[in-house]
Amino acid sequence: MRFPFALSAKIAGHIIKHKLKRTPKFAMVLQLEPLHTCNLTCTGCGRIREYSTSLKDMVPLEKCLAAAAECDAPMVSVCGGEPLIYPKIEELIAGLREQGRVIYICTNGMFMRKKMKDYLAAIYSPEIEPMLKQLLDEKLITDKDAETIRKSDEAAKKKVVIRPSEWMYWNVHVDGLEYTHDLIVEREGVFKECVEAIKMAKILGYQVATNTTVYKETDVQEIEDMFKFLSSLNVDGHTISPGYDYDAAKKDMVKRLGKDPKDFFLTRDMTRQKFAKILDWGKAFTIFGTPVYQEFLAGKRELTCTAWAIPTYNVRGWKAPCYLMTDGHYSGYQEMLEKVDWNKYGVVDGKARDPRCEHCMVHCGYDPSGALGTNYQSGDNWKNFKYNFGAKPKPYPSSPELARRAFNGVSVGKGHLAEAKAAINPAAGARGAFSRKDETQASGNSGGSCGSGDTTARDELLAKIKEAGKTEIKG
Ligand code: SF4
Ligand code: SF4
Repeated sequence: MRFPFALSAKIAGHIIKHKLKRTPKFAMVLQLEPLHTCNLTCTGCGRIREYSTSLKDMVPLEKCLAAAAECDAPMVSVCGGEPLIYPKIEELIAGLREQGRVIYICTNGMFMRKKMKDYLAAIYSPEIEPMLKQLLDEKLITDKDAETIRKSDEAAKKKVVIRPSEWMYWNVHVDGLEYTHDLIVEREGVFKECVEAIKMAKILGYQVATNTTVYKETDVQEIEDMFKFLSSLNVDGHTISPGYDYDAAKKDMVKRLGKDPKDFFLTRDMTRQKFAKILDWGKAFTIFGTPVYQEFLAGKRELTCTAWAIPTYNVRGWKAPCYLMTDGHYSGYQEMLEKVDWNKYGVVDGKARDPRCEHCMVHCGYDPSGALGTNYQSGDNWKNFKYNFGAKPKPYPSSPELARRAFNGVSVGKGHLAEAKAAINPAAGARGAFSRKDETQASGNSGGSCGSGDTTARDELLAKIKEAGKTEIKG
């Protein structure tokens, strides 16, 4: 099956229960941000900018669990910031599991191996020696790590750890192959670490997903190569969504100066071009998201935004109206549902009810629409059922050529700190390629994390990569 049966059945059961009860609005996925602290400073990250004044604040564990219970979403995406920095992350995951939820830990991958070593120390017995040997052979742990695991004391064995489960996915942020990804996250070696973490997770029996955002300048061929490579690593699924940002200043230029929106926005037309092949990708790879949402992305149909189905909870409360835009925070999910005028948002019959929504097609607004049957067309339910319960695409065959294409950055001496920077922006020097917009220039749509939010800086960076790739830094 494409997804574990228990998971698909749980989500289907949740929808059917609320349809029978005629609940007008209910949560499908909770975006839980226990903190906004991050160990990386990716180009264009919306979260570390929007919440820059509360980066050290954290949502207490009890409040995180209460938020999940309150909205009762069957799936919880634990994001941030970097959620593995949250001091009680293990207890949070265990608590969410006790509540019976499907969990996605959205991570940049840098601390995954540390958490998995904690797991190995907690479960160590001579029986796992073959597993340790495999990890050592593949250089995913060091001899010293293996010794620490073998010598785990009572405290290590009692530690709450993140265990493999069919109810839990590591959801690793990957925005391209090595060269592009490391440039975007502004640190060499992050892509390699993500790949090693994914390999280790698969050996230990974890489920692994990846999440990717497509920008104006994203090379679609590179995304396809990335899916092939990740599939060859036996990754269990992929979330892919268009990046989108709204900027009042840009909008004003369009209106007053008659500029072409294409110069500034990832417009709906552009998104549809980028996602023209998503239905084919959905057949070849395990793409999360309903086929109805995929048809929407490919421009084959319209959907109405259901942002209330993917609510976001963070240090300031329930964020409305959506993961991307912030018009307010509320202390309760029900309160947010009641107080927000949802009819003010989204695009209906091609007309934006809020100008900021005009070009938005992001998964947090529209993926649930496909599952919930808004804009229902005959056959949709069967289509979704067939997709979710159908056969899982076979892993893409691994090959040295595929790996060579994937490791096209620092691994082969093309890191972003030296030659690559110079190749991208010789005139401005190394710093120029990475200069970010400051706070005062932040966009009106200031939300987003790990790929969403203000896309301008990333678009500019990707444009430079693309340009440079034509000449000096072809992989
Ligand atoms: S920005 Fe997108 S997700 Fe948010 S309310 Fe508008 S259409 Fe919905
Ligand atoms: S995009 Fe994600 S990993 Fe990067 S700085 Fe923002 S929160 Fe951290």
